[in-house]
Amino acid sequence: MMRVLVLGGTYEASKLAHLLAEARGISATMSFAGRTKAIVAPPIPYRIGGFGGVEGLLEYLKVEGIDVLVDATHPFAEQISSSALVAAKRAKIPLAILSRPPWVRTVQDNWIDAADMATAADVLGHEPKRVFLTIGRLQLEVFTKAPQHFYLIRTIEPVAVSPRLPNHRVIHGRGPFAVEMEEKLLREESIDRLVTKNSGGEAAFAKILAARNLGLPVIMVARPGGTMQGPFHDPAKVMDFILHHQLARRGV
Ligand code: NAP
Repeated sequence: MMRVLVLGGTYEASKLAHLLAEARGISATMSFAGRTKAIVAPPIPYRIGGFGGVEGLLEYLKVEGIDVLVDATHPFAEQISSSALVAAKRAKIPLAILSRPPWVRTVQDNWIDAADMATAADVLGHEPKRVFLTIGRLQLEVFTKAPQHFYLIRTIEPVAVSPRLPNHRVIHGRGPFAVEMEEKLLREESIDRLVTKNSGGEAAFAKILAARNLGLPVIMVARPGGTMQGPFHDPAKVMDFILHHQLARRGV
């Protein structure tokens, strides 16, 4: 049996899990950070929770006899990707990185590039605006430096601590979203700026299309540098990579 560990928490990881569940001679486990309470159970065994940094992940790889590590985490999940890179190298096992391609601007888009979330808060400007924040729960505090705006915040699950933003409302939703519904929301809430991470992928793309259709400026936060992204964008290609290593192990 070839043992595969998939670091997940994304739609792509779940697609890969379905392929792995069908494969012969492969015993794969999915790992979730545990940030989302309502986990969509994959069709392979799974574990939940951090490993305890590089050392913890390395220990897990050794104890579980993992042969191939797949980093299928979100492109903005920097810490775990960095741990995966180092731990795989030290464990001398192959690492496949599955990462969705970023969204690419078209001539119809009105994007304002922001290198990071703090820059995104700055480029909102001094004039009070109605801002749609679709950045998850962890970086909401950054916007306390721009308290003059109204923030409509969309998260998958309720935020544990209410953001210290004087004028905000939290709504919940898990993609994929329909373009028509996103347009309706943007119109009804009189939104004049959308702030998003350049996560890529289809599930969250409807808001980008809706903003495009309405001519709405989008503050697009760039992916963090430093972490290696790719080279795989397709779960099927990662399966090829795993199967290649499976054959190599058998000496075929
Ligand atoms: P992060 O900053 O890279 O991770 C923080 C810590 O959480 C890591 O150091 C690790 O703890 C643990 N961790 C993260 N992913 C894990 C996994 N798949 N299995 C086990 N432990 C994991 O990541 P994040 O931005 O907080 O994201 C957490 C998870 O949510 C990721 O799995 C990611 O795929 C998913 N996600 C993130 C975003 C986003 O925008 N960042 C969006 C959608 C989904 P230890 O150091 O103790 O091992």
